[in-house]
Amino acid sequence: MSQKVRVRFAPSPTGPLHIGGVRTALYNYLFAKHHGGDFLLRIEDTDQTRFVPGAEEYIQQSLSWCGITPDEGPQNPGNCGPYRQSERKDLYYQYAEQLINDGYAYYAFDTPEELENVREMAKKMKAPNWQYNQITRTGMKNSLTLTKEEVEARINNGDPYVIRLKAPRNEEIRLNDLIRGWVVVNSNNIDDKVLMKADKMPTYHLANIVDDHLMDITHVIRGEEWLPSAPTHVLLYQYLGWNQPDFAHLPLILKPDGNGKLSKRDGDRLGFPVFPLEWKDPKTHEVSSGYRESGYFADGFVNMLAFLGWNPGDDREIFSLEELISEFSLERVGKAGAKFDADKAKWYNQQYLRSRSNEELEELLRPYLEAEGIQSSKGFTSRVCGLMKERASFIPDMLNDRFYFEAPTSYDEKTVRKKWKEDTPEIVKNLRGKLEGISDFSEENIDVTFKKFLEDNGYGFGKVMPGFRLLVTGKGMGPSMSAIASILGKEEVLKRIDTGLAVIEQLAS
Ligand code: GLU
Repeated sequence: MSQKVRVRFAPSPTGPLHIGGVRTALYNYLFAKHHGGDFLLRIEDTDQTRFVPGAEEYIQQSLSWCGITPDEGPQNPGNCGPYRQSERKDLYYQYAEQLINDGYAYYAFDTPEELENVREMAKKMKAPNWQYNQITRTGMKNSLTLTKEEVEARINNGDPYVIRLKAPRNEEIRLNDLIRGWVVVNSNNIDDKVLMKADKMPTYHLANIVDDHLMDITHVIRGEEWLPSAPTHVLLYQYLGWNQPDFAHLPLILKPDGNGKLSKRDGDRLGFPVFPLEWKDPKTHEVSSGYRESGYFADGFVNMLAFLGWNPGDDREIFSLEELISEFSLERVGKAGAKFDADKAKWYNQQYLRSRSNEELEELLRPYLEAEGIQSSKGFTSRVCGLMKERASFIPDMLNDRFYFEAPTSYDEKTVRKKWKEDTPEIVKNLRGKLEGISDFSEENIDVTFKKFLEDNGYGFGKVMPGFRLLVTGKGMGPSMSAIASILGKEEVLKRIDTGLAVIEQLAS
């Protein structure tokens, strides 16, 4: 690629960014960085009726949480600003006029009521999908059917009008999509899209093409839902005499069962977030959950998202953002939709939790400890994290076993019933003696002492371990007792054995 790669993520601030949108941004970013290019953020806010306050900030925060940093955007403009279409609105009209002058567009004066009437009539005549196109335009009020004088008079009179694309009759429009290959559409299937609205604001189609051109965009990577618009865009590039960027339309993210696009309602229904961050709807005050607030790590989330549609061609699944940049290619993005898998999202989080150091986990766990009023030293908590991280998917899961921080006050009834035998107190007392004799209370030393104790007495594991575990942790199961005991320390373990023995013996008597 000789030209510097420049891509853009061009969301409309009409609400929170769905994870599908985040993935589009991510793929754009990975593609740009892989090729040493630029990633731009452009806010497409020409449709003021759909503007939602807070949505742009939400988009910016979501990208920043994911570590997707635009090289140019509203916050850090480059040479192609402004990066909000509403701030560029004076720029588009000249291109619509150029198209009119060159015979590729025309003024249309039909009022909304007139258009509504035609649609109604078409419906009655069993042609419900009426379109303003090569055929129907001849029966409408536009600069192709009215006289030049009439058109001028209407414009001078201030009559409202829109500017429409004049789609050609029976031409083949071809585009080579980097993911789908050749897409060929006959222009008869394309309607005369509005380019400029009556309020002199451009529509998405015109603004998008003009901006992609002025911003030197080389590759348009966007969701599959925009594929039907692409032929119109190809025509616009051609008519404006501009080089067309390469297109790549990304497959949809599907519902977990594969039936249709993943929607906001699926998240609510199936209990997982579909948004990167929590979103409070400014109108309805409805709150939608976010990955960040649900305790997901941004790096794990990004890794999971990258794999919804892309894979490295082998069975590796864990990729940092840097690794994704170095390996990402559009050739490895599939055509088929990618089924969202909430369990996989959790799995990724678990992997990323495990990969963090005990010290890092300790810091992340600290606010939860404080919220619960649990006092625990840094060193001790780190060691607990080291043991618990194999069993946790999320940070607070590491608090599931309270016995690390508090001596048990109750003892698992089932274990008492099934495993607490008449000779258990005696056996545990003897074990206590051996444990007391260990000077360096390390996991290894405890392990060796415990095994020797079994051997010397001819005991099976099941004869000693459940009682020991019950007294120290209150539970019937858990991680290695030698590891737990070592973390708790000798004094605490002996104390717990004594207290537990007294409580259980009292229960039994
Ligand atoms: N504004 C469009 C959107 O909201 C952009 C589509 C495109 O990337 O061309 O997704």
